[in-house]
Amino acid sequence: MGKEKQYESVIGLEVHVELATKTKIFCGCSTAFGGVPNTHTCPVCTGMPGSLPVLNRKVLEYAVSVGLATNCEITRYCKFDRKNYFYPDNPQNYQISQLYLPICRNGWVEIEMPEGTKRIGIHEIHMEEDAGKLIHDEWEDCTLVDYNRSGVPLIEIVSEPDMRSAEEVIAYLEKLRLMIRYLGASDCKLQEGSMRVDVNLSVREPGAEPGVRTEMKNLNSFKAITRAIAGERDRQIDLLTSGAVVVQETRRWDDAKGCSYAMRSKEDARDYRYFPDPDLVPIRISEAWLEERKAALPEMRTEKIQRYREEYQIPDYDIEILTDSRQMAMLFEETTALCNQPKKVSNWLMGEGMRLLKERGRDPEDMLISPAHLAKLIVMREAGEINGSSAKEIFEVMFDTDTDPADCARERGLLIVNDTGGLTEVLRKVIAENPKSVEDYLGGKEKALGFLVGQTMKAMKGKADPAQVNQMLREMLV
Ligand code: ADP
Ligand code: MG
Ligand code: ZN
Repeated sequence: MGKEKQYESVIGLEVHVELATKTKIFCGCSTAFGGVPNTHTCPVCTGMPGSLPVLNRKVLEYAVSVGLATNCEITRYCKFDRKNYFYPDNPQNYQISQLYLPICRNGWVEIEMPEGTKRIGIHEIHMEEDAGKLIHDEWEDCTLVDYNRSGVPLIEIVSEPDMRSAEEVIAYLEKLRLMIRYLGASDCKLQEGSMRVDVNLSVREPGAEPGVRTEMKNLNSFKAITRAIAGERDRQIDLLTSGAVVVQETRRWDDAKGCSYAMRSKEDARDYRYFPDPDLVPIRISEAWLEERKAALPEMRTEKIQRYREEYQIPDYDIEILTDSRQMAMLFEETTALCNQPKKVSNWLMGEGMRLLKERGRDPEDMLISPAHLAKLIVMREAGEINGSSAKEIFEVMFDTDTDPADCARERGLLIVNDTGGLTEVLRKVIAENPKSVEDYLGGKEKALGFLVGQTMKAMKGKADPAQVNQMLREMLV
């Protein structure tokens, strides 16, 4: 307990985000994940002498859009630098990165905490290339290398050491992720490595000078980050209270064991012998281009929430959930534009949509349903062409394959038989065969009607609208 009071944690993050470009940062190779090893490669991204890098314009656009969304100053004259280090996943023996003139600086994002809104400073955002991947697992006596990832574009978002708890860290990361997904700049999946977080942490007595920090790597879920922060904080406090010192170093968090171990002593910029990359021309950003980028920014969440409140008659609760992912929000907007039933669209997405996402373990980003098909399903249901349970069945098929709901209903025989004559005949038969229930209903027992509806639905093999059957029975039994 004493520990909690005596020390506070000081945390700053370095977040790597893989950008959603189709091709790599300095060559035309594909960035697709999971190809046969070393097939998405060329002389540039395998570091062949004499090959020359050319910057992918889309990388700059994404980096600037993230910078604008995080209130950064955009550097008008920016350059790439070589960061020299020797490791087999790095075929050039240097990584092209930015040290002196990063593309974005001095920004901030706001996080919502129970005690109020807090600003987390962004020190800088720079562009760089990813390294290849070493594969050690499958063989005892050798390590193989796959350069498919070499040259995949990254931005590194470096925060100020403004966070004081794991809760603030998670809120900050969630905010960044939501923003970057809205921008379409990355899918930010920690598990798949398209968002990677290094946690820098030191402890100090409140108000004291910042203590010595360590950096933790290999954190691939929010839970792991939370546990690593608690573990590292306790380790540092134990060291300090026992009279030892914290060593500035890079540590690897082992989430399974729940502890971290030293990887290497912390290197500083000098160790990398940075120098400007002579093969890449500096980037000059014009006011006109920057204005264009600003104009091209999509509507972000806060603005969307505001607009939804004005435009659609749906509860705030729905708005919060729908706008939590841009994909979901777009599906909502586009479907509503087609069928003009915002609450119905929202109900489908928040009910069956969220249920199936959870069941399938998928992200809203991976939702396949097209607005046209969802709108059509809603219209079919409204028109009484299908009943409620059939609509759910069809929605599930659409969720997995985006099938046209009309085709699906036809194939599965779910269209309600609209021949009222046929239904009337069945109703007459049901009434004739169940005199006891009829008597009960006429005697005031509402439940008996439910039984008759059930019998009719059975006789119709489900191809009737229970509401309509109910209505017709009431009319016939007077
Ligand atoms: P380097 O370039 O050596 O990695 P930086 O000074 O750029 O070091 O900081 C890297 C990260 O460490 C930043 O996110 C920053 O917020 C964080 N940081 C710096 N000082 C501290 C500290 N005393 N405690 C915790 N985090 C820190
Ligand atoms: Mg660093
Ligand atoms: Zn290449």
